[in-house]
Amino acid sequence: MASGAPPASRTGDPAVFLDRDGTLIEDRHYLANPDEIVLRPGAADAVAALNAGGMKVVVVTNQSGIARGFLTEEQFAAATARLGRLLGAAGARIDATYHCPHLPEISGPCDCRKPGTLLFERAIADLGLDPGASTGVGDRWRDIVPVITLGGRGMLVPSPDTPAEDLARASQEASVAETLTEAVTRILRRRSERTSTRG
Ligand SMILES: [Mg+2]
Ligand SMILES: [Zn+2]
Repeated sequence: MASGAPPASRTGDPAVFLDRDGTLIEDRHYLANPDEIVLRPGAADAVAALNAGGMKVVVVTNQSGIARGFLTEEQFAAATARLGRLLGAAGARIDATYHCPHLPEISGPCDCRKPGTLLFERAIADLGLDPGASTGVGDRWRDIVPVITLGGRGMLVPSPDTPAEDLARASQEASVAETLTEAVTRILRRRSERTSTRG
């Protein structure tokens, strides 16, 4: 192996770290009622394709609405359960969900709020993931930079809420896909190329 290879372990599973709001589901801004969850177009098929492709699917989401008092941990858990049921009905599965309930201005600084890497590191340890073979996908720069920091890649999928500066930065320093479907197609194509050149 070339000396320039990333130090990441090659024994773990590859993963896709997905943002939730504005990426998997429509962003309702501090969603408290699980009944308001609406999958974004192509989301279920995209997750199912990742499942079939042997990639772990991990949701990492900032939920400052909890610190702000707009929703409770119980409501977040109920939303996670309903999202799992909606995806499950379409044959798709989330392997794990991690959330940051904080907001520095209210609850003090934390290491788990994206772009912090703590939740990603926790998932890597819990699920035995290979960060170097993993990709972060979301509609903000802060969704994808943690995976880049940990040795993987990032793909921005713009939503109506994506700041122009995030799009510009991802265009230069990571990559941009028009839709989640396109992002997953490119991730799986790259994985099959890597697998075939290695085998
Ligand atoms: Mg988002
Ligand atoms: Zn936090």
